[in-house]
Amino acid sequence: MKPRLSAVVFVLLAMLPLGLSTRAGAQQRKLVTDRSQTREANPVNLDEWRGKTVMFIGAHPDDEVSCLGTFAKLIKNGNTVYIVHLTSGNKGSRDLDMTSERLAMIRRQEDIAPNGTVGIPEKNIFFVGYDDGMLEYVPEKELVEKVCWFIRKYRPDALFCFDPGSQWVQWHKTDHRMAAKVALDGARAAAYHLYFPHHRINEGLQPYTLVDFFFRGSVESNFKIDITDVAELKFQAACKHTSQWGKGNAKYTGPEMDPQDKERQRERIMRKDPDGRIYERFRRVQESLSF
Ligand SMILES: [Zn+2]
Repeated sequence: MKPRLSAVVFVLLAMLPLGLSTRAGAQQRKLVTDRSQTREANPVNLDEWRGKTVMFIGAHPDDEVSCLGTFAKLIKNGNTVYIVHLTSGNKGSRDLDMTSERLAMIRRQEDIAPNGTVGIPEKNIFFVGYDDGMLEYVPEKELVEKVCWFIRKYRPDALFCFDPGSQWVQWHKTDHRMAAKVALDGARAAAYHLYFPHHRINEGLQPYTLVDFFFRGSVESNFKIDITDVAELKFQAACKHTSQWGKGNAKYTGPEMDPQDKERQRERIMRKDPDGRIYERFRRVQESLSF
């Protein structure tokens, strides 16, 4: 009997942590639900949004262009957009006479002007200023804290950023990989007051849980927004990033984009779907990713 009794005890002991973890899992799921319910869910259709705040977190001063149609629509309906660029974009030129300092200044102006025409004021655009191409070599904790601060400070109803991937890490070029990662990690940290507690103690910034994410450049897009009515605005904005395209990237001669490069931009941005409409596509996740 002894061996059988031991076996029963062993099985019971083995089940104990399983039971505990199951209960913990249930509690955790309940918490996720509760936290999601602390905020009113955003309407699925972005055309219905009014008085909302959205934030874009990217790496370079032009990364947001892929979302500008969506932002233009949101702004027309009385919503507010904040843009956070983690780097100054100070390396992306093939012009041998260009300097990092000059390029950072050029890219700042290339970014502020078109965003202004879409309705994003300069005061809503933040240039954090890390070196272009080097984001992966900045201490991650430092980047996560910065993102966390922006989210706690401006409390966006939705976050737009690069897609980190769902079941695997999505491939991006350098900087975009890190921007995707720290945007999500920063959003997670923002939800818990014990991460970077000095934000609350020194500045009164309260924890904040995001429950609506739009990942740009995703290979798993599940959401599209019709931007046909504002596509021309987006095209014009894209044409301001002269230093990043074709001739302006090879040899920067001024803010006016080369006509052929402009035409290529038009083809890219004004490309229509078979239904004759122009869309921006995202992977949208409407839940707390804080666990
Ligand atoms: Zn970029």
